[in-house]
Amino acid sequence: MGISHWVRGLTSLFFPNVCLNCSRSVDDSTALLCLRCESDLPVTDHWKQPENEVRDRLAGRLPLEYAAAAYTFREGNVCQQLIHAMKYQNRPDVGKKLGERLGHLLSTADRLNDLHGIVPVPIHNRRRHERGYNQAEAIAEGIGAILNKPVFSDALRRTDFQGSQTRRTKLERLENVRDSFVAGRGKFSNQHLLLVDDVLTTGATLDFSGNALLEAHSGLRLSVATLAIVER
Ligand SMILES: [Zn+2]
Repeated sequence: MGISHWVRGLTSLFFPNVCLNCSRSVDDSTALLCLRCESDLPVTDHWKQPENEVRDRLAGRLPLEYAAAAYTFREGNVCQQLIHAMKYQNRPDVGKKLGERLGHLLSTADRLNDLHGIVPVPIHNRRRHERGYNQAEAIAEGIGAILNKPVFSDALRRTDFQGSQTRRTKLERLENVRDSFVAGRGKFSNQHLLLVDDVLTTGATLDFSGNALLEAHSGLRLSVATLAIVER
């Protein structure tokens, strides 16, 4: 790590109003990015496009009323930087603010008019202890504040941490995800819930967590929103 990087990191400790991407100081104390990085953030048009990449990636696996992601995640782009700050730099406030942005986009979707509430995808307890928060829950709280809907953080549970997955085969890892979600508290029969996660990659996490909810509550209708979708 270069000295200038180190100094920038130190500066941000005392003056937190810096751009999360380029570390330039930002006048607006509520802003996450400087104007230049903000304009580099790749926003999708999913909230206007019911047939989109999120729905495609979950097609045939998870029946959905509505699906959208706010930003496109690419290696090294502004979106990746935001997600990194939210997950690894102890910034649940970033998750909440990004959730509010996503909430504003979702507030224009007619298909969410009858929404009952929001369910964040849970993380393992051990991860939660290490990180101190669940980033999906922070995003869900931001969405809930804008849509004025309750967040049901215990509607899903993640079963015990299975240890390192690096030595498992791909199929075993997939099965591990499949087994790791169970429905938790709350009765949601015939209701409409929005399942929320930070990043959509293969869709396995949303597939298995969403189906755990659908199996537990008859007549449940499900929508999905993520902050970002990984480009492929
Ligand atoms: Zn910037």
